[in-house]
Amino acid sequence: MTFPVESLTTRGGELCPVCGSVASSAAVFPDYRLFRCRSCGCWSSDALERGAATSFEPMSYFENAELDRPKWVALLQSLSDRSRVPASVLDIGCGTGAFLEWISGACPGIRCVGIEIDASRGSEARARNPDAAIQMGDAGEILPGSPDRYDLITLWDVFEHVRAPVHLLGELAAHLTPGGSIHIVTIHEQSLVPAIGRALYRISGRRLSYPMRRTHEAHHLVFFTRRGLELAAREAGLRIQELWFDRLLRGRMDGHPIVTAATSAVLRIENALGNGLFVNLTLQRSEG
Ligand SMILES: [Zn+2]
Repeated sequence: MTFPVESLTTRGGELCPVCGSVASSAAVFPDYRLFRCRSCGCWSSDALERGAATSFEPMSYFENAELDRPKWVALLQSLSDRSRVPASVLDIGCGTGAFLEWISGACPGIRCVGIEIDASRGSEARARNPDAAIQMGDAGEILPGSPDRYDLITLWDVFEHVRAPVHLLGELAAHLTPGGSIHIVTIHEQSLVPAIGRALYRISGRRLSYPMRRTHEAHHLVFFTRRGLELAAREAGLRIQELWFDRLLRGRMDGHPIVTAATSAVLRIENALGNGLFVNLTLQRSEG
């Protein structure tokens, strides 16, 4: 399948932002709508276009960034095992710079670059990483003018916020060194928790929308399936080297303690069975 990736954006509507196929209206909330692709199964939202507010509390999320440290350690270990210790890293959506700070300590001398769309978080990342180059703005606009290449490009919980994910992936592929890799962690639509939200919404005749909204928050624009990620990688000239599923840790959840405890238990069981609310991808250029 070939389609103009530049045109695939999550304005919300009849076209899937991942594969370009027809998407159907799947949920209608007062402030935004969700669409489901009939081909790749990815979901998308028009929340950004409509200015819908999220119930999410971003600062508590960034305060807990250190909980992701085991993922950072595992990634570096995986690269080391393949003799791919990075000499340069680009962190897309670097937030307050916690990952860059960690990797600069773990890989002395590594060249660290971050891009962050939120100015206050970017300022904190700069203060935290005086030797790193932190750029403020949209990665999709900054990268095309840059000649720099990186051994490692990371997107930690960022890909689901991107308006044109396939276009960005193609741009990232063009900024890899030979043998370099892209590491993505994003949300997985085929996890049990969003499936429960969808089922409750459907069974209740669209009246019980709260669980569905929580698993499809307004700040997330695209909700990926494995097939959608495979199509996006292929279209961007990348191949999937590794793909595995992970769960959301309870320390990263907000909400009522009983709800978070129940959700955490469901996610733990699901992950033990080989599925998860998060999907991890390591990608390389197809010809690399
Ligand atoms: Zn699709």
